Amino acid sequence: MAAIGGPDNSLFGAMLTEFEEAAKILSLEPGIWRILTHPKRQIIVSCPVQMDSGEVVVFTGFRVQYNITLGPAKGGIRYHPNVTLDEVTALAAWMTWKCAIAHIPFGGGKGGIICDPNLLSRRELEALTRRYVAEIIDAIGPQKDVPAPDVNTNEQTMAWIMDTYSMHIGHTETAVVTGKPVELGGSLGRREATGRGVMICAREAAKHAGFNIRGATVGVQGFGNVGSVSADLLDQAGAKIVAVVDWKGGVYNAKGLDVPKLLEYGSQNKTVAGFSGGEPLTNEQLFKLELDVLIPAALEKQITMDNAPSIRAKVVVEGANGPTTPDAHNHLHQRGIVVVPDILANSAGVTASYFEWVQDRHGYFWTEKEVNERLEQKMMQAFDAIRQVALGYKVDLRTAAYIVAIKRVADVTRVRGMYA
Ligand code: NAD
Repeated sequence: MAAIGGPDNSLFGAMLTEFEEAAKILSLEPGIWRILTHPKRQIIVSCPVQMDSGEVVVFTGFRVQYNITLGPAKGGIRYHPNVTLDEVTALAAWMTWKCAIAHIPFGGGKGGIICDPNLLSRRELEALTRRYVAEIIDAIGPQKDVPAPDVNTNEQTMAWIMDTYSMHIGHTETAVVTGKPVELGGSLGRREATGRGVMICAREAAKHAGFNIRGATVGVQGFGNVGSVSADLLDQAGAKIVAVVDWKGGVYNAKGLDVPKLLEYGSQNKTVAGFSGGEPLTNEQLFKLELDVLIPAALEKQITMDNAPSIRAKVVVEGANGPTTPDAHNHLHQRGIVVVPDILANSAGVTASYFEWVQDRHGYFWTEKEVNERLEQKMMQAFDAIRQVALGYKVDLRTAAYIVAIKRVADVTRVRGMYA
């Protein structure tokens, strides 16, 4: 089955490699196999924006709805100079499997705009966001496709999307996006949810690998929404966060970093580099450290065959999407390193998004305690289901996660039948 949208080492190609492993074990019939390895819809839009200088720049945006068998497409929107259709398609496919694993009634989608948000003013970012929404407006909506934040987008971006959509349809519709500010329909606990799920997976994986998360050493790549909350909650759970690296540099302290101070420093300086509570650290050094838990929570393709042989962690919990290439994953698995795959490890973000969507549509909001308790319950169900499949089929956790996801989507595809 050829990779779509890129050369053989494309991100979508990586998704297909992982998919095929599980589909073979399931003896998936060729027709369903073909359906599940093709995106339902790929949208490419041009978004002209008048810059502060007066110049008009045209940005390219994407929205991919990979599969909507289980419900409306669901997935974030990222702003990054290197966004490609291949990347967005792979991420939309992963959202499909993630929603199936989380057992929530959503399909998979993803969006992106090729831009460097660091070079745009707030007004330019708002104009770009609103134009992008106007260009894809017929394809999104609470019943169709529900975006959310991803790399370099946040609550403010979601507020602009919700407002633009509401202006077009003539009334306020909060359920069109998740990850909104709490005062306009966001859910308590959503911002921390992905990191909370990573913490739960690290805690559970540690237990099954024979050590306690309390006192365990942890290294984190990325200190944005996912990395910083994961580090904070693991610190609160008694783990020792010894290393953190972001785009600008990193910091290491064998005795454990002062995480509350690091969070404060990070939010003031937009990086952890230069933090005085430890020594400087690079990505390369992070991947060589002896750790109990390693959490890649930055971008895709960070663990490759170039650095996997030097990784000495007992457990890798993938906070980011697609941080480990398939060959690097096989290498880690063969060395007995437990990898909790992205489609399980960071699925709490979309689960909390589902909770937000449900609350918006009911117009009835839950307490943070209720959100966190339901999240814990959902994550534990997903973790246990995948672990049981891994033990039953004698496969790694990633293959087991795909088996669970593909089976759920394939079963519903068969029952619904094919409309032609
Ligand atoms: P973010 O923009 O808030 O943070 C990204 C972090 O990665 C930043 O600290 C940045 O400095 C760091 N980074 C970027 N390039 C790096 C590099 N080369 N080396 C080291 N660090 C680098 O993004 P986020 O929302 O935390 O998302 C991170 C990952 O988690 C992405 O893969 C995203 O798709 C995934 N994810 C996010 C959520 C969510 O709820 N935010 C949910 C599921 C998955």
